[in-house]
Amino acid sequence: MLTELGGLVTGIVLRATDGSGHGRPALCNICHTMQPGDQVALFTARRAGDAGIRGDSVGTYVCADLSCHENVRLAAPLAPNEIRASVDRRIDGTRRRVESFVERVAAGAERVV
Ligand SMILES: [Zn+2]
Repeated sequence: MLTELGGLVTGIVLRATDGSGHGRPALCNICHTMQPGDQVALFTARRAGDAGIRGDSVGTYVCADLSCHENVRLAAPLAPNEIRASVDRRIDGTRRRVESFVERVAAGAERVV
């Protein structure tokens, strides 16, 4: 997963945890759309810096195929007016949530590459 953070392109490694398939619909924390249980996975990323060395990781529920941006567009209403602004707002929110998640992962790192 790549995002721009403070002008730097920041990459984190997301690892999907095993044991998905509890079957219940779940809310993706990135695009805030409800997804069937088999299409949402708990992803974890090891924290940067000392926290990661200690095994500290951050987890969040994300669409299993990481298609959040597409889902935001698909979930948008198809009425003729206001659509453009509405979709743009939702995409902005998605991007912010990705950035805040990456910030949590990167917290403690002296340098993020
Ligand atoms: Zn999503």
